[in-house]
Parts: sequence; C-alpha cells; structure tokens
Amino acid sequence: MSIAESIGRVRERLETACRRSGRPNSEVALMAVSKFHGPRAVEEAYRAGIRLFGESRVQEARDKFSSLTGMEHAELHLIGTLQRNKAKSAVELFSCVQSVDRIEIITELAKRAQANGVRLNILLELHTGEESKAGFLDFDSLCVGVETALGYPTIAIRGLMTMAPYTTDERAIRASFRALRSARDRLAARFPDADWSTLSMGMTNDFEIAVEEGSTLVRVGTAIFGHRADPGDPR
Ligand SMILES: *Cc1c(COP(=O)(O)O)cnc(C)c1O
Repeated sequence: MSIAESIGRVRERLETACRRSGRPNSEVALMAVSKFHGPRAVEEAYRAGIRLFGESRVQEARDKFSSLTGMEHAELHLIGTLQRNKAKSAVELFSCVQSVDRIEIITELAKRAQANGVRLNILLELHTGEESKAGFLDFDSLCVGVETALGYPTIAIRGLMTMAPYTTDERAIRASFRALRSARDRLAARFPDADWSTLSMGMTNDFEIAVEEGSTLVRVGTAIFGHRADPGDPR
C-alpha cells in the first residue's frame, strides 16, 4: 500500500471513530509521525494532504526537514523527550513541543524562545501508563509545571499530551486517556486563563479509543508509513 492509500485508510478509521463518538471530524487533527522515515516519505504524506508532522528527535528532524522545500503551511511538532542542550535547535525547528515533561525544560525553552524573539507553543506531557517513563508523574507536579510556564510570556500552553501503555488491554488504554482528560478538566478549572484546547493522545494501535475519550490530536506513525526499524526505545 502506498503512503497516500494508508493515509486514506487512517482518515476513514478516524471518521468512523468520530461518528461513533458523535464528534465532528474537524475536532481531531491527524499528525503523521515521520520518525525513522526519510524526507521522501514526508513529501508523499504532504502531497496526500498531511500538514502536521511529528518527530521524536531534534537532530533527525533537522536533517530531514531542512532538506525539504515547498512544504507551505506544514507544521512540525516535537513529540520525544527533549534534552536541555537541544532546546535552542528545538525552538528554531518546531512550532510546538508536545513532550514538555519537567521544569528545567520549560525554563530552557522560555530562555531560548526569548532570545529568538518567538513565542513557543507547548503541551505538558502527563505520565498515565506504566510503559512510558516520560511525563510529569502526577497532578501536583503538573500544576507546578503550569505555574512555571505561565510565568514566561514566551511560552504558550496549548494543552496536554500522553502515551497510553503499550498493551492490548483496552481498559488500561482507556484509563490512561481518561486520566489525561480529567487532568485537563481540573487544570482548566484551576487555570482558566490558559488555553487547554489540545488533548494529544492516540497512536496507531489506540487512536480510535483516544477519539472516543476526547482526543483532539492523534499521532500516527506506523499506520501511515509502515513499520520502522525501532532501536529499542520507541521514542
Ligand atoms: C512513535 C510515536 C508515535 C507514533 O507511534 P505509532 O504507534 O507508530 O503510530 C506517537 N507518539 C509518540 C510520542 C511517539 O513516540
């Protein structure tokens, strides 16, 4: 199957999930996660209508996307753990960092965004499943993250992100997505002036469940580009 055909299939699955949940398709953005796939794959996805791309590693994203031209209106988000010494490059490359998982990264991104004269969108990542090690560990530490981010005019909170556990146990996956949504609702009540509109949750194996649980952005890699030669850590 070509990338364009795979995207067609993913869109159909998304539409079915939206219909089942009584939600308009326009409420759920489709991100193509292009990590470990080359620039030609990205171009093919772009030609098939994808305008939102996700990458896990700063260096890989820079090598890949700097060689691409004619990608008007395409947006690139970081979805993998960010090392502090890559924050400068991250601010230059990404319009949003979804994987903000600790205070020192907020501080570093704010500093780099100010130096570049930009305002950077971020999502705060919450740890909701046992598999992934990343993310703020609980609601209280998440609140400290929010307070820190709100203190910087160069940082714009847009919502939350999570990864469900990698399992076939649907209840465990659903519980993870519900935890993210409930954290979002509590944060929205506590910090009503921030923008909580984005709930980034759902990947190849679980995006339909995520849509049912309120996802506004699904991050799909394998179902679009095929399997990747994952070196152990999927991030
Ligand atoms: C790799 C990755 C994805 C995409 O995973 P697939 O299962 O291939 O769809 C989504 N989100 C994050 C954070 C990832 O690291």
